[in-house]
Amino acid sequence: MIHTETPDVVVIGAGPAGSTMACVLARRGRRVMLVDRGSFPRAKVCGCCLAPTGRRILRDLGLDAIAHQGIPLNTAVIRSGARETRLGFEGSVVLSRTVLDMGLIDAAIDAGVDFRSRTRARVTPNDGVTLEDLDRSEAPATTIEGAAIVVADGIGGRSLEDRAEFAWKIRRRNRFGVGTVVDPPCDAPPPGELLMIANRTGYVGVVRLEDGRVDLAAALHPGRTKTMGGPARACAALLEQAGRPELAAAAGRARWQGTPGLTRSRRAVAEGRVLCIGDASGYVEPFTGEGMSWGMLAAVTAAPLVEALVDGEAETTWNQVHHQLLQTRQRRCRAVSLAMRFPSVSLAAMTILGRIPGLGPRLAGLASGQSTIDPQPSQRQNPEVIA
Ligand SMILES: Cc1cc2nc3c(=O)[nH]c(=O)nc-3n(C[C@H](O)[C@H](O)[C@H](O)COP(=O)(O)OP(=O)(O)OC[C@H]3O[C@@H](n4cnc5c(N)ncnc54)[C@H](O)[C@@H]3O)c2cc1C
Repeated sequence: MIHTETPDVVVIGAGPAGSTMACVLARRGRRVMLVDRGSFPRAKVCGCCLAPTGRRILRDLGLDAIAHQGIPLNTAVIRSGARETRLGFEGSVVLSRTVLDMGLIDAAIDAGVDFRSRTRARVTPNDGVTLEDLDRSEAPATTIEGAAIVVADGIGGRSLEDRAEFAWKIRRRNRFGVGTVVDPPCDAPPPGELLMIANRTGYVGVVRLEDGRVDLAAALHPGRTKTMGGPARACAALLEQAGRPELAAAAGRARWQGTPGLTRSRRAVAEGRVLCIGDASGYVEPFTGEGMSWGMLAAVTAAPLVEALVDGEAETTWNQVHHQLLQTRQRRCRAVSLAMRFPSVSLAAMTILGRIPGLGPRLAGLASGQSTIDPQPSQRQNPEVIA
């Protein structure tokens, strides 16, 4: 059933964070409007590796069938220059953003969410949301007042531009993201293997998607990328150096999508009736492949706080809870991304440590947060708490 009256909550952005939030709140009987400026399915810069935390949230929501459409990852091959190391890497699944994002949106709609694509939202200074129908430019914008607002519009979102208290703090000398999907050349990694190639320009991750195509996603240093002649050439050079000439040629021909500078945080992630989750609340770097899972985790954790707002209570805890939730993970992610600024040194260390029996998989697990985020069910003290 779709609610047509004023919603209790407006969620801005239908990526994994926003759709999870919308779905959870609607299942608890709240009237939710979910808006996205894009039309779906849509492409997205992403390495498409869904970490164990994200899989567990899908399972807890009864949406396991979405993850089952993906390909389980079993190996990570990390390469820099002529050096290559192969580590066991289990627990994640490769899933295209088409399948994951559409699956979550469909679940939200099934739960009663009023989903509006091609609708751009902007949060007003007095906690309203102005909605602009991008297919009807002549139609006047509408404003919704009195709803709780969840901002999940990603790192490229600008819905909070009129709210100085949420201003971004963007790191200088920041890498930016690019991504594309290509038909599989014969030197592409096999299904279930993640190939990561790093050099001083940045790093590119390559995986096979569930439909057989190849997803490429990279984080690049802007100055060095410009010197190389742009993202397509920079990524082609990375692949060429790694002895993947056909992949390099496909990367050189492909159309790449980009993101703004990646590493950033907000001055605040909650104020008044507005809460930010997912990339919209801050981002480190994608090397550890956890952004989607962090967004989904933030959604399930913040949902009760949004409900409290709807019930008329003032929200005062999300800034602190958010900080605690992400602190350890972001520290690890920062350490890994710092290490990847000196790829040959890091890889030499990883190769040596990876030879120690049993340590290889653990290294990969630590880099992706699996060992810290996703204990086996028997080790979890309280399976109800996803954190
Ligand atoms: C190179 C690279 C590789 C990555 N690899 C991985 C990986 O392997 N695994 C992983 O888990 N994560 C990865 N990530 C991170 C992951 O892509 C993000 O963390 C994830 O998409 C965040 O989800 P989200 O829901 O917060 O935002 P998004 O998925 O960005 O969704 C935001 C949505 O908001 C919409 N929107 C924006 N502005 C407005 C507006 N004003 N009004 C309405 N709608 C709006 C957009 O259209 C978009 O659909 C990678 C990122 C990069 C850059």
